[in-house]
Amino acid sequence: MSDLKTPRIIAITNQKGGVGKTTTAINLGAALAELGETVLIVDIDPQGNASTGLGVSVRDRDQTTYDLLHEDAPLARVVHKTGVERLDVAPATTDLSSTDVALGTQENRVFLLRDALSTDTARGYDYILIDCPPSLSLLTVNALVACHAVLVPLQAEFFALEGLSQLMLTVRDVRETANPGLRIEGVVLTMYDQRNNLSQQVEADARATLGDLVLHTRIPRNVRLSEAPSYALPALIYDPLSKGSLAYMDLAKEILARHAKRKEPA
Ligand code: ADP
Ligand code: MG
Repeated sequence: MSDLKTPRIIAITNQKGGVGKTTTAINLGAALAELGETVLIVDIDPQGNASTGLGVSVRDRDQTTYDLLHEDAPLARVVHKTGVERLDVAPATTDLSSTDVALGTQENRVFLLRDALSTDTARGYDYILIDCPPSLSLLTVNALVACHAVLVPLQAEFFALEGLSQLMLTVRDVRETANPGLRIEGVVLTMYDQRNNLSQQVEADARATLGDLVLHTRIPRNVRLSEAPSYALPALIYDPLSKGSLAYMDLAKEILARHAKRKEPA
């Protein structure tokens, strides 16, 4: 064996749109990089928001995750550096929206991303974060098959917990069929407003239903997090001391601590 690492692969997923998946991918990625980890963000949302938010313009997306999945393009050709040291991105384009139809009958269709991330290029990273589209489509299933664990951003809003059971069933299905080691990394509350009763209620419900799966760190609603992508930067670079940036640093530390604990001999 070479001294290449085995990356920890985390799929950031929730079939609801607008819950903070992309914001979490970008800023958790930047925070892990800041803490010394090498990180790759794999954008498999046809909207390509993570790619744009990390400064890869549509014009520059020559080879993308579409090519990775459909054309066997090597990961090394797809990866771009970002403005953040140790943080790379594999960008997406709208082509990806045809994936469900295009791969409909192909036998290995759920294993494409897993295979694409089983290369030496992938093994050069400590963490790979997959930014999923807002659906439980074939793309998301590819992410669930390729990853070690799922991180679920949960927006602290009414109906937040609805739909989570469907995601959990999909996770169970994938575990039983294609990826027996699949774990839930955790559920992270996003757009949390401490003063809002509803936020507190959602948190209480989530903790009552999901117990330890709900991570300690809560991501507050913070305008810096929503502004940063228009500067093509993670909030952590755009405004490192903003509440949102600090919360994502806490999230990164919490996740690193959980991994370290799991690796300890019993
Ligand atoms: P998803 O990827 O799940 O669709 P996004 O991460 O794109 O969700 O977030 C949806 C919108 O909410 C975006 O405009 C984003 O900038 C904003 N947003 C996400 N998280 C926060 C937050 N904690 N505070 C304020 N705005 C946020
Ligand atoms: Mg998104």
